[in-house]
Amino acid sequence: MNEWVARAAAVLKGEPLDAGVARALADVPGEEVLDLVALANRVRNRFSPPFQACSIINAKSGLCSENCRFCAQSASHATHAQIYPMVSAETILAAAETAYSEGVRSFCIVTGGYGMTEPEGDFLTVLEAVDAIRSRQPDMGVSASLGILSDTTARLLAEHGIEHYNINLQTAPGRYRDLIADTHTSDDRVATIHLLKRYGVQVCSGGILGVGETMRDRIDLAFTLRDLGVDVIPLNVLVPIEGTPLEDGSPPAAVEVARTLALFRLIVPRAVIKLAAGRETVMNDFQGLLMLAGANGFITGGYLTTRGRDVQRDTALIAELKAFGSGGAPREPSTA
Ligand code: SF4
Repeated sequence: MNEWVARAAAVLKGEPLDAGVARALADVPGEEVLDLVALANRVRNRFSPPFQACSIINAKSGLCSENCRFCAQSASHATHAQIYPMVSAETILAAAETAYSEGVRSFCIVTGGYGMTEPEGDFLTVLEAVDAIRSRQPDMGVSASLGILSDTTARLLAEHGIEHYNINLQTAPGRYRDLIADTHTSDDRVATIHLLKRYGVQVCSGGILGVGETMRDRIDLAFTLRDLGVDVIPLNVLVPIEGTPLEDGSPPAAVEVARTLALFRLIVPRAVIKLAAGRETVMNDFQGLLMLAGANGFITGGYLTTRGRDVQRDTALIAELKAFGSGGAPREPSTA
């Protein structure tokens, strides 16, 4: 076994992963990545919550004021992404009911844009939809991803029973301006995370791989998310979109995604790590490997501007993975 992977096995005893060991693991050679994957699988089985799948609705698309370099929805980029204003609460409810009928029990309302800082307009539509879904399907967890919040809008989401709130940090905070956007800062997003924590909302925050970051940046992001007490970490892989500054970008190879995912699992053993956009195009036949590398969740049924895998295929994959000890009830209490 790779000597650094052997050292990292201390995580199985509940010890936090040392930052120096994490950086050494970033250089594990390809033929030894499966050692790292095997350790991540054991750590996930020991500490992490069971598999979670969620579906999303893109409730408002395009013409975003921000200039995130990877995003089809920015008004700064000439893409073919759909543009439409906020859909009605009824439309959101119908999408949630479809997801529910397919067995999904976590549903997220996503809107493109800087954020929602005033309790008016689109924000009130979101609250109406949250109330409608929760009253129709009480066992459906309803989440939201609306960008940057104010104290008032964070509190209102908490009062209406939001299960998780998604706001991705995307990359290491120190690289945000270079790699992601210069119309807002990583600190703006971190401030929203602190507000949500104050009101007891579980936080979903992750990143995107393949935007020019280094392994060091990815490790910095993982430690930042750990220190913020993030509960759910979605990991996206760049899908280069024509018209964006990253249209010629190269998504990381499957082995690199597996190495990164395993490192995240060792750094944040008790969080849910969800595979999100890009897992289909980049990972192709390696979907199961990613699950064994420490993931315990995914977004299913499609993303904001790209298609995803069928819910039924993902459900079958989870069932198969149980034979590897993956996806069962946590063996120890899991407090992220
Ligand atoms: S990622 Fe969000 S904030 Fe950034 S451009 Fe896209 S919709 Fe706007």
